[in-house]
Amino acid sequence: MIVATVLIPLPVPEAFDYEAPEGVVLARGDQVAVPLGPRTLRGIVTEVRETTGSNRRLKAIEARLDDPPLPPGTLDFVEWAARWTLSPPGEMAAMALKGLRGPRPRPERRVRRVGERTPARPTPARLAVLAVLGERAMAAADLARAAAVSSGVVKGLIDEGVLEIIEIPAEAGLDAPDPDHAPARLNADQAAAAAVMGEAVTTGGFHPFLLDGVTGSGKTEAYLEAAARALRADPGAQILILLPEIALTQALIARLTDRFGAAPAEWHSGIAPPRRRLVWEAVVAGRCNIVVGARSALFLPFTNLKLIVVDEEHDGSFKQEDGLVYHGRDLAVARARIEGATVVLASATPSLETLANAQAGRYGWLRLEARHGAAVLPDITLLDLRQTPPDPQTWLSEPLRTAIAETLMAGEQTLLFLNRRGYAPVVLCRACGHRMTAPDTDSWLVEHRYTGRLVCHLTGFSMPRPKHCPACGAEDTLVAVGPGVERVEEEVKSLFPQARTAVFSSDTVPDARAARALIQAMADGEIDILVATQAAAKGHNFPRLTLVGVVDADLGLRGGDLRAAERTFQLLTQATGRAGRADRPGRALLQTWTPEHPVLIALAAGDRDAFVAAEMAEREAASLPPFGRLAALILSGENGEAVEKTAQALAASIPNAERLEVYGPADAPLALVRGRRRKRLLVRADRDVDLQGFLRAWLARVKVPGSVRLTVDVDPYSF
Ligand code: ADP
Repeated sequence: MIVATVLIPLPVPEAFDYEAPEGVVLARGDQVAVPLGPRTLRGIVTEVRETTGSNRRLKAIEARLDDPPLPPGTLDFVEWAARWTLSPPGEMAAMALKGLRGPRPRPERRVRRVGERTPARPTPARLAVLAVLGERAMAAADLARAAAVSSGVVKGLIDEGVLEIIEIPAEAGLDAPDPDHAPARLNADQAAAAAVMGEAVTTGGFHPFLLDGVTGSGKTEAYLEAAARALRADPGAQILILLPEIALTQALIARLTDRFGAAPAEWHSGIAPPRRRLVWEAVVAGRCNIVVGARSALFLPFTNLKLIVVDEEHDGSFKQEDGLVYHGRDLAVARARIEGATVVLASATPSLETLANAQAGRYGWLRLEARHGAAVLPDITLLDLRQTPPDPQTWLSEPLRTAIAETLMAGEQTLLFLNRRGYAPVVLCRACGHRMTAPDTDSWLVEHRYTGRLVCHLTGFSMPRPKHCPACGAEDTLVAVGPGVERVEEEVKSLFPQARTAVFSSDTVPDARAARALIQAMADGEIDILVATQAAAKGHNFPRLTLVGVVDADLGLRGGDLRAAERTFQLLTQATGRAGRADRPGRALLQTWTPEHPVLIALAAGDRDAFVAAEMAEREAASLPPFGRLAALILSGENGEAVEKTAQALAASIPNAERLEVYGPADAPLALVRGRRRKRLLVRADRDVDLQGFLRAWLARVKVPGSVRLTVDVDPYSF
């Protein structure tokens, strides 16, 4: 009998065996329908083997599905990713099948004019429809709305044969890119980098690179040329470009469309299911060359993947921490290795992990030294708040106010950067000192003035701002403490009432469309002063922006996180790098109470190498990443006692291991989230220790009760 092992997209620890149906030849990667309990589910065949005798306990596969099989590289990648992250392989497989959840997109129906035909009765409504439509083809509903007529008017014109319905195939928007459509004339550094990457892409095989250059040095243009070379050598080449945030995709898609004369496919959680299905099917059929997407695009079924680019590779947003825990950058390198492809990690401020790989020669290191053209890096100055403290209840010091005024006078733009959403991070009672917290989560409630609510940024819980202190009952004693972006904007408005201001944070810019509108308004010079969280610090190009003010440069440096210094250095480099991108020189002013901090000194000096050397030395001394490895086990549950007991059981069953230590259990940094208690055990191991093997052996010794959730975070990003 033939037995097939089938991976079912569910969070179960392993794949199940089924009997293959008579007369159906199955192969690894095939999609099949299998019974599981009372249900029939989609699954992926991972292995087919012949066994002698029969095993009556095995259920039979119901059918092989018509959907295309997962290509070998995709399935290998799914299995590898599950092993690396200690995740259920079925759940990883579900990532690769995401595109199949939606219906097939239907062709879009539009109406257009039939030749020169005119209506028998030319009523004003009918004439309005024809005037709006002109030569175009439009959806009937849009046309009626634009002409301000009822849909019956449009229908009447169709019935009469003046308008006709045409179908636009859903495939529209997946045209082949032309590598020679509009190439840039590269400068010497760019050309050299593109040549090396292009050579790697065309010879094939696994080639990892760090593409290292300051913001505006032309990294994007360089990797687009590498993509063009891949396409010139093989018109069927597939290229994947990953971005840390959905908000950045539109600008890159526009650029790719200009460069290649055709729009790339887009892939992230904001794409509607029918469109996803279309992209998934086009990718697996090799009809889609370039995909721009978020980390989940790594699981697309590429069949001829030649190049993966991870842009802003240092960005913590590549790490997914809900559900499946994985780092998109690390998995991108793995996918490239499995596919025999080139992977380019691009950044102005590479992660220490990637720098260590480049320094050790494991990655090729391509540097772009200068900004493209005339643009120069901004002048960075530290404003010592001990010398010029802002007035009480204000956040902008005198020198920063002056600089904003000068920038306004020059008709240029200012970006005020503060990585804090809302109006004030803490609300407390003047009478009794009570701090407003969320009822079920360990975090302060943040005041939002736009909405008049207090919000928990972790869980989204919100409540109206109360009139009475919930602790002591006093009336009107709650005060906002500290600044968020909304409060800084309030100050800016009172200082510069004539200036046009806006706030850019995930609250004011809830979706990609809003982000696009605000970015466009900024690019068009319709905003003088933009107050922004990190949402606007990344990637965008604002040619008229010449001043960046960092409201609180010390913000990220507090707290004991492993990456606090690295992250602050990266974020502030990105934020200050927004200034002076075109022909105007820029400057950045950083407000700080600790101007002697080494991170800030390195920033002001523009000396990344000094920062990296100092930070590497500290990490090496402590054997922390990238010189050692970490893994976190998080236990959580509503029943605190069960969580504690499981944590103790784990602590009592640690396998013997050398060059490896386990710390904890201790309260996780967020000890209570949505009513769930959280405990953490932390593992540190030397680089060459088989960390995953250790974790597997350890977890096999302890039974985690159903009421407790165990999350394994290999190579945690923040903790
Ligand atoms: P990075 O990705 O390093 O931030 P970009 O590739 O976005 O840099 O380049 C910065 C700016 O310079 C962009 O506006 C880009 O269009 C322009 N640019 C880069 N290289 C060239 C080039 N070779 N010719 C013309 N413009 C270029």
